Amino acid sequence: MKTMIRKIDEINIDKQVIQEAGEILKDGGLVAFPTETVYGLGADALNEEAAAKTYAAKGRPSDNPLIVHIAELEALKKIAEKIPLSAIRLAESFWPGPLTMIFDKSEAVPYGTTGGLNTVAVRMPNNEIARELIRAAGGYVSAPSANTSGRPSPTTAEHVREDLDGKIDMILDGGSVEIGLESTILDMTVIPPMILRPGAITAEMMEPVIGNVSIDETVMGKETEQAPKAPGMKYRHYAPKAKLLIVEGNIKEEVLAIRQLCYEGMRNGKKVGIIATSETLRYYTNGVIKNIGSRENEKTIARNLYAVLREFDEAGVDIIFSESFAVGGIGSAIMNRLEKAAGHLCISAAKVAGRQKYRRIVFVSDTDTCRGPMAAELLRQKELYQEYVIDSRGMVVLFPEPVNQKAEAVMKSAQMTMAGHTAEAFSESEIDAEILLLTMNESQKKKISAEYGEDIAVYTMTEFVGDDGEILNPYGKPLSSYGECMKKLSGLIDKLTEKLNSFTKK
Ligand code: AMP
Ligand code: MG
Repeated sequence: MKTMIRKIDEINIDKQVIQEAGEILKDGGLVAFPTETVYGLGADALNEEAAAKTYAAKGRPSDNPLIVHIAELEALKKIAEKIPLSAIRLAESFWPGPLTMIFDKSEAVPYGTTGGLNTVAVRMPNNEIARELIRAAGGYVSAPSANTSGRPSPTTAEHVREDLDGKIDMILDGGSVEIGLESTILDMTVIPPMILRPGAITAEMMEPVIGNVSIDETVMGKETEQAPKAPGMKYRHYAPKAKLLIVEGNIKEEVLAIRQLCYEGMRNGKKVGIIATSETLRYYTNGVIKNIGSRENEKTIARNLYAVLREFDEAGVDIIFSESFAVGGIGSAIMNRLEKAAGHLCISAAKVAGRQKYRRIVFVSDTDTCRGPMAAELLRQKELYQEYVIDSRGMVVLFPEPVNQKAEAVMKSAQMTMAGHTAEAFSESEIDAEILLLTMNESQKKKISAEYGEDIAVYTMTEFVGDDGEILNPYGKPLSSYGECMKKLSGLIDKLTEKLNSFTKK
């Protein structure tokens, strides 16, 4: 089947295109169209065969019911029974909009549309293209998200084309959607009404209108064995191809843990993706990093979520690490979709941090021109199980000078260089709980302890790896002494590597 793609502008709707699309739906065909939430795959909701086509095109399990979309409140009476007053109040407040309500179904609605249920889900979308199309199609359009079942929902016409090209009659391309997450689903057949799927319309928004609203506990539940009340919520929906892991903690912990997990993943030869936010973007350096939006305005995160998951698919990443988001407001819907995309795989940031004894290692020598920078460079060449920031500093640095030439010469002969290094003095402001200071000799260590307190982690290099003695300064001696010094350092760095790696599980 050839899929026609028609551009359409919500501000200036081409009636003829709508007419054409409406005819296709009336004839039992399939048309994808934009709504304010995600793109929907439209079919005549009162036509059983059209429903069957919808399931086939999406590869959707047929027990997963479709939402019926209407354009006028009047239309509700024909498909729903026992409509409570509270539903009318909600409709008046939130329709057209991203709220789906579930009612007992009338005879008019075929079981093909409701996945065999005696109830029907109904929504009036707040997108002019959608409502015009619904009118042109006769008033009742079933429209699940226009993606292949299990893939992230489509938020652009291009996403729809990726999944359904050749499987449906037409795509109406109305640009990017506004909200980006599917509607809130509220079951009106129970008292109090129950949220089966969180969305942009939250319990806090509905309660002033109708009083108490409950929430299906499986929505956010990670370990519950109970089946969700919306059949579709039991599937590992919204999933990217890569494994997705949500890292939970406070934001600083999350960033540090993701950095470490990314480092570990890359060491194991994995292509790693990171879901970052505008606020944290600059703290990541490795991996395929995507900005999902701003924490200041979570709507931007909702809008970008599915597109970002699809971009990771295109980038061919093996594993994605995501920061987590506050539950509350649209944040609940964001976390619900992320958790489903992750198949509920979460990891505590604190747990990752617990494996990391130090995060920064600083080699301290006198002038930071020879032994310190050599040790630092030697350690950088090692295969470490954890990501460390490795630096060197001097006790007395008068000028920001380059390294000693003989030191550079011996390092060069071993295919290493310290060309980028400039001597820098150690300063108190660098001290934090995550720093490990390794000095060349006892007197440097004593001086640091005396000056900055006993609490800071400072050891001589030899002491830290369980050896005796000190690392002598070769300054003023022939080149061979520099070679000796490098050899000594090299042996110590091997032991140091082993010790550091023993802190981290492989
Ligand atoms: P989608 O159309 O892809 O947004 O998915 C529709 C969602 O609505 C699925 O999770 C369905 O299980 C849910 N749904 C539709 N109709 C009903 C219903 N009658 N009762 C409970 N959940 C429903
Ligand atoms: Mg869907």
